[in-house]
Amino acid sequence: MTGLEALPDTRMIAALIAAALYVATYQSFIRLLRYPRNWNPPSLPASLATGGLAALTVALVSLSPDGLDRPALAISAGFIAVVFGIIAAPAITFRPASRLVEFLAKHGDHAGLWLLGPVLLAGLAIPNIKLQAVLATAMAIELTWFLRQRWTGRRRRLYPLTGHDLSVLETQAKGDLAAFRRRHGIRELVLSNGAVSWRGCGKTTPPCPFNLYVNRLGLNTAPCCREHMKDLSHHVAACLSEMGAVHWLEGGSLLGAVRERGALLDWEDDIDISVLLDGDMTWRRLAAGLAERGARDGYFVDIFENKGYISISFDPPQRWPFRWERNRLRGEIRADIAVYRPAVSHGAAVLERRSHKGAMPVTESGGHGVLREIVLPTSTVRFLGSDFACPNQPEAYLRVLYGDFRKVEYTFVDAGAAKARALIDAAGDPPVR
Ligand SMILES: [Zn+2]
Repeated sequence: MTGLEALPDTRMIAALIAAALYVATYQSFIRLLRYPRNWNPPSLPASLATGGLAALTVALVSLSPDGLDRPALAISAGFIAVVFGIIAAPAITFRPASRLVEFLAKHGDHAGLWLLGPVLLAGLAIPNIKLQAVLATAMAIELTWFLRQRWTGRRRRLYPLTGHDLSVLETQAKGDLAAFRRRHGIRELVLSNGAVSWRGCGKTTPPCPFNLYVNRLGLNTAPCCREHMKDLSHHVAACLSEMGAVHWLEGGSLLGAVRERGALLDWEDDIDISVLLDGDMTWRRLAAGLAERGARDGYFVDIFENKGYISISFDPPQRWPFRWERNRLRGEIRADIAVYRPAVSHGAAVLERRSHKGAMPVTESGGHGVLREIVLPTSTVRFLGSDFACPNQPEAYLRVLYGDFRKVEYTFVDAGAAKARALIDAAGDPPVR
């Protein structure tokens, strides 16, 4: 083989390596998004690994035996920063975010494709095959993502919106549902012949982005999401009982069970259950048991050992290479499992957790704790049609978390949305059950 024939082969191999590096960087980045989705800062080792892969991709694209290709350096680094910003937007909006991030999150299924025009121009203007390979690979990923979202979105089934759900929606929409739907891009809302319905999420569809609908717009949790939260909470409680783990309803779920007489809060966005690690029930045994049962029953179990909690999501894990693309989705139906350990704080026996919860006091060791006698031995309470384990003194527990828990507090970001729904709730509409 002569040198002239070998040259295109070498360039082609370098282009393939650049494309593979981009795929590895993308996979590493979307895996990293599990942290903001669970309200955590990204772990340092995972961030460094992703940053290293991105730097390697840019270096491979812009360095060659002829020297540094400055335009390719600028374009590849700029492109990765912009496309990853778009990809991360839905995960960032799990907390309140800027208007730009909110906007990108709202269009997260297709926003990556907005880069198609600039990418074509850059690819044509800069004759660097490694850069062209990276840009083409990224666009292929964005196109596949968009098509998969559109395809799975077709499987939604209709739920009628009635009663309190409808009253709250009409209040927040100030009576003009069509304009409200258009303004906020609520694709799930269906208005036809005077009937109002909701194109519901399911195991094989994207979830309803209810951090937008519930927390920002002040709507009730959609009927599909409520139904799946019920299934999920039964799954988790059954697993924990099967494993012999001492557990109890926590936070908003316990509040619903006690104050709303066994129902979810109307604006519920997750299920909270806590587990006691003591004796035989170690962190490792709990995590392994939940992961195994989640895999068996089609739930997604994500384990955050450093933070001491496990999130269990309603949607089943996808096969590689789509496994971590779930982190690009906006909403999530999730149960958060926090662990407590027995401890002594200021001379009193307490159960202690690492992360804060409501107004739970800080313990001597810097965790957050509640008196042991308030929780143990656990009792039961009706919740979503079944008996669930709850703290021994559920009302005392709720007072530790929320003070006067009988008073309804709206934890909405948008104060206007909270004010509007407070009126309709106070009007005595029957809550949705
Ligand atoms: Zn839903």
